[in-house]
Formats: sequence, structure tokens, C-alpha cells
Amino acid sequence: MPSATAELRAAARHLNRRRFLTVSGAAAALALGTNLPSTAHAAPTLDPARIAEDPFTLGVASGDPRPDSVVLWTRLAPRPYEPAGGMPARPVAVRWEMSHDERFRRPAARGHVVAHPEFHHAVHVDVPGLEPGRVYHYRFRVGRWTSPAGRTRTAPAAGSSPAALRFGLLSCQAYHDGYYTALGHLAHEDLDAVFHLGDYLYEYAVSAVGGHRNHTDRLLPDLFDRETVTLEDYRLRYSLYKSDADLAAAHAAHPWIVTWDDHETENNYANGVPENGVPPEEFLIRRAAAYRAYYENMPLRRPQRPQGPDLRLYRRLHYGNLAQFDVLDTRQYRDNQANGDGWKVPTPESEDPSRTMLGAGQERWLIDGWRQSRALWNVVPQQVVFSRRRNRVEGPWPLSMDAWDGYPGSRERVLAGADAAGVENLVVLTGDVHVHYGFDIKRDFDDPDSRTAGVEIVTTSVTSGRDGAERPANWQTLMTANPHLKYYNGRRGYVVLGLDREKLRADYRTVPAVTTPGAPIATAASFVSPAGEPGLSPA
Ligand code: FE
Ligand code: CA
Repeated sequence: MPSATAELRAAARHLNRRRFLTVSGAAAALALGTNLPSTAHAAPTLDPARIAEDPFTLGVASGDPRPDSVVLWTRLAPRPYEPAGGMPARPVAVRWEMSHDERFRRPAARGHVVAHPEFHHAVHVDVPGLEPGRVYHYRFRVGRWTSPAGRTRTAPAAGSSPAALRFGLLSCQAYHDGYYTALGHLAHEDLDAVFHLGDYLYEYAVSAVGGHRNHTDRLLPDLFDRETVTLEDYRLRYSLYKSDADLAAAHAAHPWIVTWDDHETENNYANGVPENGVPPEEFLIRRAAAYRAYYENMPLRRPQRPQGPDLRLYRRLHYGNLAQFDVLDTRQYRDNQANGDGWKVPTPESEDPSRTMLGAGQERWLIDGWRQSRALWNVVPQQVVFSRRRNRVEGPWPLSMDAWDGYPGSRERVLAGADAAGVENLVVLTGDVHVHYGFDIKRDFDDPDSRTAGVEIVTTSVTSGRDGAERPANWQTLMTANPHLKYYNGRRGYVVLGLDREKLRADYRTVPAVTTPGAPIATAASFVSPAGEPGLSPA
């Protein structure tokens, strides 16, 4: 690296750190304190008639379907690009309603919820008493304003045997890398739910023209043109993302089940260890801000409410006896990346069997959950590539220290736990790498003849990495170096995952470009894996 660049980078880091320190007092109070709405000292409730501009600029969302309930979400922000969103610092009552039909003539449930300034006027409603496996429509009202309508779907009844399920898989949607064309197409798919596997937003600065979106006709304010560090930075970044019409349409069309990766906080952080040399006690203040803004902006239940720098995101969802989903968090509890991170030839440090990707508590929870599972498909939505990935045909082979390849002891315990629990149809769902992959998960990646223990479906980015290419420069190398890699495509898009009693099916959808709007969607390839006999082959 030329020294001028290195110096500039160091200066940028220094500036960032200084800005961090100047705001950290206030940020710490807000982010690390409980700062929950207090009924004793609350400001008087705002008269909703005084909301003079449409507060529903960020759309609506639903998530984490259960057979009898679903979470509804919105956030009031008449002026989304202003720090307070254009709302006074007072609580306001919001009405919500659910209906069996899209014209809201057959009501199913309704109620009130208070939008608190402490949560940036976000609203989370955990609606109980719903019927299983049903479509519902929902909307919010405050004063004279009515939100756009959303559509959601409850999970099938416990113990039922749904014939087939379909899910959308998403990851990595850097606003500044392109248009959410793929999300606009996803809104038109027939799906039970959508899994977002991380990098919902990126912490990097967004220029006035929206980076590679280059929307010169509509300039963004300066406050997006800096890396997110404070609670206000993260909140505003969610406002920017959620004001995108395609993202709002994808949320309004399907319930989402979300988990995060690194960029919702900071690139490649591990537990309390940041990317650069910031001390952990300072980084945890930033993490608290990032986690709080994440909760405020996602359709999550109360157990996912943050407590300072901690947020319990790993959780389990059931779709009858067809599928159990164990949603993982591979960031919050992991050991620091070995060998200084990056692609490195394994060493005793990275091979240390005691290293953990999940933390002891989450690992136990995962394996215990498998022991009790009655589902045909045991699906693990998570973040980083699980399967062995070599980027050279001949050794020595560097491996990604940020992915499961950098935590082989942890991976072995997970696979041994699946064996011990009698898991026959293990499916790992992954994001992070900005390409579509399909892997057979080998029981021993050092032995190509070992049993195939499951399959891994990796979904490409929505935008991150810009347009991409169907066959990236290393396509032949990766396909040759990894015989268990069955599919690789470097375009942007998403996956539609189908599960039934006989097979898993992955439809890899792609768009030809994201730096220009309006690209068509196409199915680049479809793969199947039979139930009881894991292994991907072209459909
Ligand atoms: Fe990413
Ligand atoms: Ca990532």
C-alpha cells in the first residue's frame, strides 16, 4: 500500500476516533443505560392531531411468525432524514389493525400501542390469538394518517404436516452499491417468509448521490456521509435504507425473520473486539448503539430487546413438523479471528479445538434444540460460510479466518452434535460473501469420500459488490479446488428455498445489474437435494 494512502487511512481512523470520543459521553448514557420508557416521568402524550405531516415514510414490516402470533412493526418519522425524525420528544398512541382481507372489511384484531421517543418512535406489536397458516393484512393509524398496508402470514399449526413451504433468502444490501431491484422482485414472490442473513445495512459513509446509485437529481444530506458510530448515526442510516421503496415493498409483502452479521455494527468485529485498535470498552458503547438501532428497526419480539451492549438474537421458529429454524448469531459471542483475520493458511492458533464461533451457551442451545426436534428439515439460518472453501487448486491453502473455516473446532462440534441428535436433513443458510453458492456439507472436509452431512445454500448480495459477474475471475479455480461446491454465480439477487416431504429446492435468482434501476429478474439455476439423502444436483 502506498504510504500516502496508509497515512490518509490512519488520519481517517484518528478523526473517527476523536468524533467517537466527543460523543461517547452522551452515547454511553443513552446506549448503555436502560433508557426504557418510564411511566412515572414520561412526557405528556402527544395529541396525534398535531402530527402535521405523514409519519409513515418508512413503511411497515412484520416478522417472526408463530402459529398464533406475528410481530408488526412501524416507526413514526415525518422527516426521516432529521435526527428526531420530525417527531417531538413525546410518546404518542398508535392504532393498529389486522384483517383477513386486503380491504380491511373482515377485522381479525386491533389495538393501541405507544410509540416512545426513547425507541425513536418505533412500534413493535406482538399480536396474539391468530389462526395458524393464515394470511393477514395489517396497517397503522395515528391522527389523520394511515400507513401503507402490509401482508403477513402465520406459521402452520404445531404438529401439523404442511405439504410445502417457500422462503426467500437475502443478505448484504449496501445502499451505496446499487438499487434494490431484487427486493422489488422479491415482493412479488409467493413466500411463507423471508430470511435476512445479515448486512442489512453498512456502516460506511454514503455520499450525496447515494454512491453508485448516483441519483444526481436527489441529493442526500451530509449526515449520511460519515461512518456510523453513534446511536443517532445508526438510527439515521436505518431511516435512509427504509425510505427505499423496493425495500419497503419487500417488507410489506412478507414476514421477515432477521439476523445480523458484522456491518450492522462494524466490518469483521468479533464479540467485543473491533476491526481496528479501539479498546473493547469503547467498542462496546458503539455496539450498544448499533444493537439498539437494530432492534428499533426490525420486527422483533420483546426477548430481542437490547440490554446495553447485549442482544439475544439467536432463537427458534417452527413450521409444523416440516421445518425447524435455528436462527444463529455468529458475531456476538465468537472468539476473535485467528492469525490476524483475512485469508491465512491454518495454524495451531486457528486449529485450536477450543475456539468458538457461537459461544458455549448458543452452541448448547443449538444441539439441545436438535435433540428435541421433530422436524423433517433442520434449517440453520446464519451468516458466514460454513463449508470448507479453498481459493487455490494446489496447497498450501489459505482459508477465510472470518468464516467457519477459521473456527474448525467449533464446526466439528456442531456437526458431531447434529450426528448425535440424529439430524438427517441439515440445511445451513448463509450470506456474507456476495455470491450464490451451493455446497454439499462433507462430514470431514479433508476426506472428499466422507458422508454428505447436509447442504449449504449461500445467497448472493442484494447489491453489495455492485453488479458482479455470472462467472467471476476465480470461478474455475473454486469449482476445481472444492469438489463439494456444486454451484457458484457472482451476480446479485436472492434465493427462493422450497421445502417439501421429498426434497429441498433452491432457485437462484439473479439480476444483470444493480447500478442502474429496473433490471429484470431471472432464475440462473435450480438445485434439489432429496430428503434423507443430502446432496445437491441440478433440478
Ligand atoms: Fe456483506
Ligand atoms: Ca458480512
